[in-house]
Amino acid sequence: MPEQNILRNILDSAQQCDKNCAFVFDLDSTLICVRGRTQAILRSAPDYPPLRQICAGQVDLFRAIEVYPTDYGLKHILLRKGIQLSHSCYYDLSGYWSHCFFSNEFLKYDELYKGVSSYLSQLDKTCADIIYLTGRSQKSMGEGTYKQINEWGLPLKKKEFLIMKPNNFTEDAVYKRDCLKKLSEQYEKIWFFENEPTTINFIDQNLPKVKLVFVDSVHSGRQTLRKEFLSIGTDYSI
Ligand SMILES: [Mg+2]
Repeated sequence: MPEQNILRNILDSAQQCDKNCAFVFDLDSTLICVRGRTQAILRSAPDYPPLRQICAGQVDLFRAIEVYPTDYGLKHILLRKGIQLSHSCYYDLSGYWSHCFFSNEFLKYDELYKGVSSYLSQLDKTCADIIYLTGRSQKSMGEGTYKQINEWGLPLKKKEFLIMKPNNFTEDAVYKRDCLKKLSEQYEKIWFFENEPTTINFIDQNLPKVKLVFVDSVHSGRQTLRKEFLSIGTDYSI
């Protein structure tokens, strides 16, 4: 089924739904393109003194680096650019990237995928609840996440409808399974949009009643989808 028809059908089913229906969205690489976040972090790397020391001669390569929406993590970008870093430089750069990526500071560089705002506001006009379920940590990214959701004007009826990880110890798939399990005690119908095949497979195995929508953007590559799921791209315009 063409992607835009899938989104339209989902919206139709929301319009026919009663209050017991929830649309749950992952954030990163599902609704949000993180390209700008990674690019800003890499471009700031030359100004971080410990990296200047360890990556001497190479760190300035990042000042004008371009990151694409199709890049996932650091390795992909370095390979594409043909940049070969020493082991210690790569180790420290990836530590710097990960510290910044999972913080409030750089979230302002994130962008919504095309059509997200309008699609969610159409969903919000139905009786269904819109909930965000993200692997982001409440502690290190909570403030910035609320701020962005507000600035973008995404629907958030209650503060509890943004569900974030209280700690970083639980694996994303397990964490999301547990949250969706709790939600399925409150809602008769749940749709869940997610970009990571590992999570989609795991939820499908554990909570077969949750309707899954795979967002084909970028992912870790740890698993591929175990079967055919409803699948959309990153253009939510209908
Ligand atoms: Mg994601």
